[in-house]
Amino acid sequence: MSGPSFEVFTLFPEAIAGFLRGGLIGKAAEQGLVTVHCTDYRNFTSDRHRTVDDAPYGGGPGMVMKIEPVVAALESVAADRGPMHRILLTPSAPRFDQQVAQRLARHPRIALLCGRYEGIDDRVREGHVDECLSLGDFVLNGGEVAALAIIEAVARLCEGVLGNPESAARDSFSTNDLADETGHWLEFPQYTRPPEYRGRRVPPVLLAGAHDEVDRWRAEQAWQRTWTLRPDLRPRRMLPATTPVYLAQSVSEAGELRLLAALPGATGAVGLGQRGRSPGPGVELHGDLKALRRELRRRHGATPDVIAVSPAPVVITGLPVADSAAALLDLLALTGDLSAPLILVVVPTPAGLGDLTTSIPTRSEQAKPVSAASAGLRAVFTVDERLLGVAALELARRAPMIDSSPPQPVCGSAMSLAAAALAELRSPAAR
Ligand code: SAH
Repeated sequence: MSGPSFEVFTLFPEAIAGFLRGGLIGKAAEQGLVTVHCTDYRNFTSDRHRTVDDAPYGGGPGMVMKIEPVVAALESVAADRGPMHRILLTPSAPRFDQQVAQRLARHPRIALLCGRYEGIDDRVREGHVDECLSLGDFVLNGGEVAALAIIEAVARLCEGVLGNPESAARDSFSTNDLADETGHWLEFPQYTRPPEYRGRRVPPVLLAGAHDEVDRWRAEQAWQRTWTLRPDLRPRRMLPATTPVYLAQSVSEAGELRLLAALPGATGAVGLGQRGRSPGPGVELHGDLKALRRELRRRHGATPDVIAVSPAPVVITGLPVADSAAALLDLLALTGDLSAPLILVVVPTPAGLGDLTTSIPTRSEQAKPVSAASAGLRAVFTVDERLLGVAALELARRAPMIDSSPPQPVCGSAMSLAAAALAELRSPAAR
């Protein structure tokens, strides 16, 4: 299949041609995968001086490109080589981005109209183009650089232009498995040999050869980068109402957990605490994190994500910290599945987190510390304390308590912390 064909309309055809001689696009053009024709507006003037510009009506500095040569050039090329999707390049237009590139890649013939001076007579925009695009919020001297950027971005989406089609699918901004129709992720950091350069090492996870670990690390990096650099790009999401959510609290040094409540969404699905009934003995109420995860996996057929909820930022080596519900939801969606059960383990103080990474001692062995990852902890979620009061009320109304034993002293604050976390997850504040 032949690739897209670009028609560039310009006063500087040699600028376009010069650029295209090198690189992958040049190679693709040689192989006939991409075609780029340049048309000089000046060849479509009718006066002796080949005039393409004139003073602006209404006065002001600079010159404006005349409409006649532009339309004549467009019509002549259309008559010779066929109709085109006509794009006027101007800073006063929606911005070109990867999604636009993907849309344009579906057009077989694209015309790019480059202006110079103060731009082109606006009647071209009004009646002779199909859309207008800007390269960004800055002003160039001419549309040529914008045209080249668009050609390159569109052409590399077409089969055969890039050496490895998978690399286009994985680039920042692409619609791929790290994105959906509502947003995109920046790419994770990439490294190549040597493993150490002037004291800077490549992250060890990339050298270890465990593909699952690499995938998870990359997803977390993409998440981190996007949240730090371009939070506007990310997809918008909420926790599905059907996701089972359990609130738990660590109650002993040995990492024992107490399940505080199964939240709306979890109750119906699991029968935990229905009609105020005590769910009975065993891991449902008391147990270590691993046992609880096992039990919920058995019930729901999906591995639960365990999130430590804390009012203060806690840093655990290797564990991402989400400081907003939106960030946490993104992380869960990127590295797993938002419909999997969620266990919110409330950690009222940073020090309390130690409990979670310690396994419960059995009769025959001593308590053994385990890593956060092997205890199943996915992330730390820092909840804004200002939300606590409101959330506590909400939870008191809606969440059935499933433990009939007398509340522990910290239970109230743990519940409100968990409630704040949940309220945020159900409708994350816009960021
Ligand atoms: N007076 C215009 C700028 C004209 S710049 C204004 O202020 O909007 C001259 C030409 O450069 C434009 O006609 C356009 O084709 C091109 N150009 C400049 N900046 C651009 C951008 N950000 N995106 C696309 N084309 C641009």
